Amino acid sequence: MRDVEEKASFPAFDREAQLFEMSTAQLRVALDHVVLDGLRPVAVGLGILYLVMAYTHTYLDPAVARILVPVALLTALILGGLRFFLVRWDIPPRYAHLVGMAIAGLSLLNGLLLLALTREPLFTTYLMLVLMGGGFLLLSTPWVLVLIGMTFLGWGYVVGLAPDNSWKQYGLALFLAAVLSVVIHSVRLRTYRKLTRLHFNDQARRNELQHRTLQLETLITVNNSINTILDIDQLLHDVVTEIHQRFAYYYVGIFLVESGGDYVVARAGTGSVGRQLAEAGFRLRVGREGLIGWVAQHQQPLRVNNVALDSRYVKVEALSKTQAELVLPLKVNSNFLGVLDVHAERVDAFTEKDVQVLSALAEQIAAALHNAFLYQVEHSRRLLSERLYEVSRALSQTLDLHRVLNLILDSLAQLVSFDRGAVLLARDGILEMVAARGFPSGINPLQIQVSIKEDDVFQQIYQTQVPLMIPEILERKDWQQLDGLPQTRAWVGVPLINVEDKVIGMLSLAREVPVPYTENEVELAMTFAGQAAVALRNASLYSELALAYKQLERLDRTKSDFITVASHELRTPLSLIKGFSQLLREDLTVEVIPEYCQIVNGICNGVERLQEIVDRMVDIAEIDSRALRLHLINVSLKSLLSVIVDTFQAALRERHLTLTVASLETLPSIEADPEALQKVFSHLIVNAIKYTPDGGKIVISARQVAPGVYGMDDGGVEIVVRDTGIGIDPDYHNTIFLKFYQTGQIALHSSGATKFKGGGPGLGLAIVRGIVEAHRGQVWVESPGHDEVTCPGSAFHVVLPLSQKYMNELV
Ligand code: ADP
Repeated sequence: MRDVEEKASFPAFDREAQLFEMSTAQLRVALDHVVLDGLRPVAVGLGILYLVMAYTHTYLDPAVARILVPVALLTALILGGLRFFLVRWDIPPRYAHLVGMAIAGLSLLNGLLLLALTREPLFTTYLMLVLMGGGFLLLSTPWVLVLIGMTFLGWGYVVGLAPDNSWKQYGLALFLAAVLSVVIHSVRLRTYRKLTRLHFNDQARRNELQHRTLQLETLITVNNSINTILDIDQLLHDVVTEIHQRFAYYYVGIFLVESGGDYVVARAGTGSVGRQLAEAGFRLRVGREGLIGWVAQHQQPLRVNNVALDSRYVKVEALSKTQAELVLPLKVNSNFLGVLDVHAERVDAFTEKDVQVLSALAEQIAAALHNAFLYQVEHSRRLLSERLYEVSRALSQTLDLHRVLNLILDSLAQLVSFDRGAVLLARDGILEMVAARGFPSGINPLQIQVSIKEDDVFQQIYQTQVPLMIPEILERKDWQQLDGLPQTRAWVGVPLINVEDKVIGMLSLAREVPVPYTENEVELAMTFAGQAAVALRNASLYSELALAYKQLERLDRTKSDFITVASHELRTPLSLIKGFSQLLREDLTVEVIPEYCQIVNGICNGVERLQEIVDRMVDIAEIDSRALRLHLINVSLKSLLSVIVDTFQAALRERHLTLTVASLETLPSIEADPEALQKVFSHLIVNAIKYTPDGGKIVISARQVAPGVYGMDDGGVEIVVRDTGIGIDPDYHNTIFLKFYQTGQIALHSSGATKFKGGGPGLGLAIVRGIVEAHRGQVWVESPGHDEVTCPGSAFHVVLPLSQKYMNELV
């Protein structure tokens, strides 16, 4: 409530020039008030006086008394009535002197009547009293003079009726009384004038003080409230509303400088005008347009107390009542942020003090704004890293291109405001939309295709490879506005660049209001465009990979099928050849001819070797087709190994190699398929023999492995076949376990299985791994490298679990 009163009183007091200067009219009103205040007591006092007079008149000559007593009573009655009237009704002060004159006139009439009826000059004193009383009551010189004039006229008339010498003295006395009346009147008038002025000044000062207090209060409230607001739009809105309400200005607005510094843009304003200006992105060129443009350039306050007289002023239709304008720069240190724009409906509305107070306010607004900007930068940085993290996670987790691109647009929408966003890919002269956001529901943006025209925006982006920003689309003649979409006003297109540094498409962001994109926003868009390019690359890589993988898979299957078929098909004729060559060998006719014997032995050896190879192929085919069936029993590795080692004695001797098997006494038996394990160790020993030069050493050692080690719950055993051979390059430690991988020379393949570097089909280690892994074991090789001179040697480790009790559950 207080606010309303104070605001209402502003216009009367906020003018410095009027502040201590009272107008004649105001003074007259004030004096009328004084007279008005005096009327009631005067009416009462005189009323009583006339009652008394009515009584004293009874002592007069009865003929005279008969007239004067009723007249005095009537006068008392009139005065009593007047008093009653004055109490009941508030008469306007401008009638105060008239009423005062009426009272004086009534008294004058009584006096003249008394004088005329009694012809007693002494009663002139009565008129003298009336004169002095009038001079006292009335505070208007003309009325006092009228009263004096009337008195003299009346007195002169009465004297004229019966001239007498003694009247002369009374005339002099009356004259003196008139002089005295004038003196009384003027002294009183002067006193009252001074008093009234003093009172007026005091009131004005008090009002001025109140005004300043209010301004200071506003400063404090605005300061308190804005410093905690970190949302810039909210902050600006609160500030303009607060100033508008507190100071009752016609319009308050805030303009902020645009990133390029060429324009200031309306960001907040009071009333619907303010909202409209902000929404329409109303902007003024710095240094060129309006008082605001001037302040934005000179960065100092500007007070224009009559806009009509200022050539810089640009009239805004919606603010047609503006008469005076105060524009203050919003600056933090030397950092110019924008302007505070205050309009008033009166000429000369802004005093020097207003400029001071509002400048202080502008400083605070600028500081708060600066804080909010900093916060926003920090906040958007955080948001950016969060969004980027989200996008990159999606990039690494999903190959769903559509999902990733949509996520990119969604994330970008949280950092940059746009009404429509799209990712477009260029293909055969056409831009295809592959992701979109913000399109009207009736439109399927993924069906939108735009043909690329010469020199259009995409061509420009394609050639320059940098983003293209259009602050106002309406100014671009070549803009292709798509049917069914609201008119784009501000736009930015960011190129999508692939690994070969070619523009493959663009990220397009459109606004329906002409608020241009800032550099910062374009940078953000570029970051996300980069992500979109990665997503597109991933997607194409993935489809290429998927294709290659499919081809590989098909190849591998063909190979396995081939092995399966071939090995089975080979086995039948092989056993035939084997049987017949065996018959030949035992045939007596062949035995006697040594050449035949040699040929038949050759056939038999070849068949043996072929059998071996086919067996291996069948093994690997079984492993590949997961048809390997283990016949699990308790196997003692000690006896298993000694049997295997025995089969190689001849080969070892031939190659002058020593094979030692460490003590395996304490080794527990394991649950395994002995036939399969035999293959494992045979292959490893064959390889050790093959890749160790003559005179080398092969050592087989074994140890028990504690539960938990190598992921075996019950523990197991580790067997190591170590040789002093040519070793294996660490680069091949894994590949040698793949089927058909061998480093042996093809030329030596026909040579014996245990010849130095004798070839094999490259299946041995693949079978080893297949069988070991079927036992839930592990196999690997350790070797410092391959060197046929120094022979660093190799060590093949085979780890097998003690039991296979989880086997069935696992398979
Ligand atoms: P291959 O039938 O050729 O012996 P393997 O699968 O048994 O096929 O072995 C694959 C390759 O691993 C061999 O060609 C050889 O180069 C290498 N290799 C295997 N064992 C040894 C070893 N003990 N010392 C050196 N190289 C070996």
